[in-house]
Amino acid sequence: MEECIFCKIINKEIPSYILYEDEYSIAFLDINPINKGHTLFVPKKRFDRISNIDDEYIKNFYRSFTKFLKLFEEKISKDYNIIVNNGKKAGQAVFHAHIHIIPQYNEDGYKNIFNWDTHKLSKEEAEEIIKKFNS
Ligand code: AMP
Repeated sequence: MEECIFCKIINKEIPSYILYEDEYSIAFLDINPINKGHTLFVPKKRFDRISNIDDEYIKNFYRSFTKFLKLFEEKISKDYNIIVNNGKKAGQAVFHAHIHIIPQYNEDGYKNIFNWDTHKLSKEEAEEIIKKFNS
């Protein structure tokens, strides 16, 4: 896979604000933060989406992810959202797998970062999805 913007950050070809890195992963500040401390956690090896990280790599990646989260909780914010956009329709703009870590600071209610437009799940809808998944 050719080099993308995150590869360039990993290879230090362009600047970024790096919080953490090890052999497998890097964490740097998102240039368009939703909240102060909005961070991207990225595997150093390029996979286009999180579900395509290979079996060997994911073990090390997940280990460094949980290590980083503990540091993040201690130093930045104990409360945060973790978001992954997989695919264009889901808002993925950079096709190098990454996890958004978005701190939440309010004592009395979190900052809604989604604008969820929800509806009540009907029996028909639920059964349709279960059927589709199991076919
Ligand atoms: P996604 O929509 O999940 O693909 O998110 C890509 C994220 O990468 C966006 O939130 C961008 O603001 C962020 N981003 C793009 N370029 C850079 C960069 N050079 N440094 C830091 N963050 C970036």
